[in-house]
Amino acid sequence: MSKFSNPVVLKLIEKHRRLWAIRHASALMSWDTETYMPRAGIDGRSYASAELEALYQQAITAPDVVALLEAAEGFEGLNDYERGVIRVMRREVDRYTKIPAQLLYRLERTSGLAFEAWREAREKSEFSKFSPYLKELVEINRKIAEALGYREEPYDALLDLHEEGLTTGEASRVLEGIRGELKRIYERVSADGYYIRPSALEEASYDTGAMGQVNRAVLEMLGYPADRARLDVSPHPFTIELGIDDVRITTRYEGRDFKRSLFSVIHEFGHATYALQIDRELFMTPIGDGVSLGIHEGQSRFWENVIGRSREFATLVKPLLDEKLKLTRGTDVEELYRYFALVKPQPVRTEADELTYNLHIILRFELEKGMIRGEVKVDELPELWNRMSEELLGIRPRNDAEGVLQDIHWAHGSIGYFPTYTLGNIVAAMMWSAIGKERVKELVAGSRFGEIKEFMKERVHIYGATYQPRELLMKSFGSSYSPDALISYLSAKYLS
Ligand code: MG
Repeated sequence: MSKFSNPVVLKLIEKHRRLWAIRHASALMSWDTETYMPRAGIDGRSYASAELEALYQQAITAPDVVALLEAAEGFEGLNDYERGVIRVMRREVDRYTKIPAQLLYRLERTSGLAFEAWREAREKSEFSKFSPYLKELVEINRKIAEALGYREEPYDALLDLHEEGLTTGEASRVLEGIRGELKRIYERVSADGYYIRPSALEEASYDTGAMGQVNRAVLEMLGYPADRARLDVSPHPFTIELGIDDVRITTRYEGRDFKRSLFSVIHEFGHATYALQIDRELFMTPIGDGVSLGIHEGQSRFWENVIGRSREFATLVKPLLDEKLKLTRGTDVEELYRYFALVKPQPVRTEADELTYNLHIILRFELEKGMIRGEVKVDELPELWNRMSEELLGIRPRNDAEGVLQDIHWAHGSIGYFPTYTLGNIVAAMMWSAIGKERVKELVAGSRFGEIKEFMKERVHIYGATYQPRELLMKSFGSSYSPDALISYLSAKYLS
């Protein structure tokens, strides 16, 4: 039985095909920008993406598309999938109707140039090279928020772009709710000393070719389908979904501290698996993608942290590491696990451990909220960043490269993205709790990853964007984003 039978919804899906194709082209271009494009190509590329974005805007706000959507909205008795199509299309149409074309163009073009400026600023650790672009991007984002509208404050509109329905109030409640608990767990872990003792493996250098072999072997072990997916190298690991049979992940090789490359691969594998397991019938329809960044990040965090940084996984992967990487030959499994699960406050978010990671998010959330409210000026950011880092993590970055310039998101023009990482950590913990602590251990120890994927497929992946994030969580796990799950998971891991 087909999921779609209403003739107007079917027509809307057919119209959507062209929108999907424009997005497909943009995604392929982004993948290329981050992987193989010569650096000087960015100028032309930023014009090209701005033009494609304009084309998308024209296509989605075209009178025939809007008329079909309005007609579809008039029907009663539609099924969940059909309602999902209408919900997602309505969000897109509203967004592109409300944001003026010139503003979108300016965002695309400025973020292209800002990305290059940021890259140089970070290399030289000179915030002033990036700050003029950031000022403009903040201004553009504030205008976008005004155009979109919001209930309580402009930042709400930006959060909603990344996570349907997320508001400043809810993000505050979630982040403030875990802040004290995280601190409590961290203090106990510090006092105990086991997880904070440095590991020699952090400093050990590795051969990039050998590490590439490890990453490929791990992907094979987890069940990454070679005929439907790729692994490449980029400065910042990411996943791009070009279609249900073309999903691409990247990692990086820094030459030391091999877990960083390995866990990037496992993390992106989690994103890729979501995309690969969406119901094939939803492919190329408005609901054929992951529903939100928070839910997406939940999938990647689950694979990276719950599975990858576990004792059972360390046991499983040790022979492979010993054979290919050699560094681990003199280490026992427990030491390898301790290296994987190490707790170490340090200035850089992407290197953060599971426990302190969310403190990095609180810092960014406060600063973004302040910038959009107009309470924080871009020129004050470096100092504010460092001060908050000291307050939250006990560490002052040595320079702006490892402080305010460390993340790519603002350079991409994205403000309101960061809180979705903590939502992801929460979703991962909710899945851990739903599968069951002992059962997760058993499945990983037995290398039964197919069963874990099947669980995720049935509860989350198969639906694509059919349900709103909170609706999906309620349906599949019985509650909305639940910070308690994250605290239980971290307590079970670090305090027992
Ligand atoms: Mg991710």
